[in-house]
Amino acid sequence: MYPVTLNVTGRRCLVVGGGWVALRKVEGLIAEGAQVTVVTPEAVGPLAILQKNQAITLEKRAYRPGEAAAFSLVFAATDDREVNRRVSEDAASAGVWVNVADDPALCTFHLPARVRRGSLQLSIASAGESPFVVRRLRAFLERRFGPEWTAWIEAAGRFRGAVRALGLPRDDMERRYDLFFDSTVDTRQIKARVPAAEELARWLSPDPEKPGSGRAENGKGSQAGVASPDGARGKAGLVSLVGGGPGDAGLLTLRGRQRLMSAEAVVYDRLAATALPCDLPANVGLHCVGKEAGHHPVPQEEINALLVRLAREGKRVVRLKGGDPYVFGRGGEEAEALAAAGVLFEVVPGVTSGIAVPAYAGVPPTHRQEAVQVTLLTAHESKKAEGPQVRWDLLAADPHATLVGYMGVTSLPHAVERLIAAGMNRLTPAAVVERGTTSAQRVIRSTLAELPAAVERASIEPPALFIIGTVVRHADTLDWFGKRPLSGERLVIASPGGDLGTELDMCGAEVVEVPLPVTPAARVVLGALPLTGCVLRSPEEADALDEERDGPGWDSSKVVAWCLRPAAAERARFLGWRNVVHLPDETPGAVIRAMVRG
Ligand code: SAH
Repeated sequence: MYPVTLNVTGRRCLVVGGGWVALRKVEGLIAEGAQVTVVTPEAVGPLAILQKNQAITLEKRAYRPGEAAAFSLVFAATDDREVNRRVSEDAASAGVWVNVADDPALCTFHLPARVRRGSLQLSIASAGESPFVVRRLRAFLERRFGPEWTAWIEAAGRFRGAVRALGLPRDDMERRYDLFFDSTVDTRQIKARVPAAEELARWLSPDPEKPGSGRAENGKGSQAGVASPDGARGKAGLVSLVGGGPGDAGLLTLRGRQRLMSAEAVVYDRLAATALPCDLPANVGLHCVGKEAGHHPVPQEEINALLVRLAREGKRVVRLKGGDPYVFGRGGEEAEALAAAGVLFEVVPGVTSGIAVPAYAGVPPTHRQEAVQVTLLTAHESKKAEGPQVRWDLLAADPHATLVGYMGVTSLPHAVERLIAAGMNRLTPAAVVERGTTSAQRVIRSTLAELPAAVERASIEPPALFIIGTVVRHADTLDWFGKRPLSGERLVIASPGGDLGTELDMCGAEVVEVPLPVTPAARVVLGALPLTGCVLRSPEEADALDEERDGPGWDSSKVVAWCLRPAAAERARFLGWRNVVHLPDETPGAVIRAMVRG
């Protein structure tokens, strides 16, 4: 089999058959701009719609002998083998390529399965012999090639154009392509990133290997057209105010991750630490401005000044904040400081804790005919004398509303007192959720009147939020998060975690997938919350992770080393790990059962 990709734009293609298989071929062809004729006595609904929209020519009749000869490409997908054979023979004798669904013997070409990221296409084929293998490989590659490859291949195409415009000798061009590829692709993890404008400028400069040689010195980059997006934003850099979500790393948005992966500096709050991608390149500057409820170690003005300074150095900066940057995160103030300093910025909204945390605690903030309004509030502000006050009277008066209070621990007694004083039913269901969406999530449920005492007894600590309203009652039936077999587990696994990592995550464990050697970002994530276990699949992994055991979050007396190979267990014991468990059956199901038994 000889692989090719065909340009079918404007080509006349014939599809004989009108079922779902035929429809799939038709859709694939139209997507590539082919001129499609469908011949079939009967057609499924979507084909009729395509005809109505003039996307295809649909001829409702039987196939006429010989007609395949008039097309460039022919597909037969009827359930009548005789018709399929006829079409195949007509096409073959006219020298037209033909594909017959599920009948390799009648095909002169096969369709590969494909994984597509923009103009990058990976094709998988087995000459029609083992479609089941092809399907599985496709699914595997679909998972492994992240969405970032689309932007990457575009950048690669632009880079190639710019390199060619330089008119260099072949060797020199290849050297630059190597630099682009080696610097932006992690082949082991199948990850790619879009290079920064400065890097591109350097790879296009006369001395591409020399750090710092780039646009600044010779302007070659913009001459070649690659640095133009950067040129548009000048040397002032860009600050992305990114919402990192409420704690569960999976709730970071795609754009948030994309900005982080192409950042040169990341300024993050402690609350957002778990949102840092563990595979963040090691050379990205990490600045912790450790904002935590109650105390602000780095004053807001200094954070603003840091952002402005980094941006003025021409850097791509991500300001990573917990939840959503504009919901009680002082994101508005930071944006104003950037605007005042003339620094370009953008906002990448995040999943705010006020919506996500109730969901993970089994509470839908709105519910039909029960709660038709949600109020996100910070009771904190209202304790201060100056500034606007919360209208507790209005909130207390509405039984069909849900109240979600941020910065909830210290302000809860005050809020409850005000609500009851304003006439709210003392028996209104209420809850406090600590560290929602993470392995450390705790939920305390009670009535409005009893909640402050219950929270105190449980020694709830920030970050926590309170939820008040009848919807809290639904947690009886809707607690999905706390009920999963591995809920509460926080496990480290070396990247790639593979199927085991995915299964552990789906069974409710918080899985921290760390690249080896461990990156600085992964270290921050590891230290953000207590770990309960570590999966070791080889002695090398034991060695690499052994160096992390001194870090915060890692209490050696508690962390269980789940070892999948005898050699890994042996190595862990040799290194002095406590709680070493060897798992003879390495299938994900068996590993999970062992973990559940403890
Ligand atoms: N911008 C953030 C809120 C910052 S204010 C957002 O959109 O979520 C900090 C408060 O958010 C905390 O005091 C707490 O009330 C709430 N919070 C943030 N993450 C939380 C979590 N994982 N669980 C419970 N509350 C959380």
